[in-house]
Amino acid sequence: MSHDCLFCKIIKGEIPSQFLYDDDDLVVFKDINPAAPVHLLLVPKKHIRSMNDIQEGDGEIISKLFMVAKQMAKELDVDVSGYKLLFNVEKGGGQEIFHVHLHLIGGWNRRVEKVAE
Ligand SMILES: [Zn+2]
Repeated sequence: MSHDCLFCKIIKGEIPSQFLYDDDDLVVFKDINPAAPVHLLLVPKKHIRSMNDIQEGDGEIISKLFMVAKQMAKELDVDVSGYKLLFNVEKGGGQEIFHVHLHLIGGWNRRVEKVAE
C-alpha cells in the first residue's frame, strides 16, 4: 500500500472527507471535480493501482462496487433518468488517482422518464 495514495489517506481518515457510504470493503464520496450534477467515486478500501492490477480474489469487491453503485443511484434519484458507470484505466485512459475507483456520473436531467423496452 502506497502511503502517498490520496484515496488511502481519505479512507484512513487522514484527509477529512464526507462519505455517502462506508462499510468494511468500500467507501463512496463525491468527486471534487464533478463532471455532472451527480458525480460519485466508489472506492475499494484495498489499495489496487488500476483495473490492470485486479487479481482473481478481487472479483467480489469489484462486483460489490457495482451493487453499491446501483443503490447509490437510487438514493440520489438518478436511477430512472440514467447514469454512467466508468473505470478510467491508467493515464491514457484518464485515470488521475492510481487507486481503483468506479465513477458514477449522472443527474443531467432527472425528469427523463423510464424508456419503454
Ligand atoms: Zn490507495
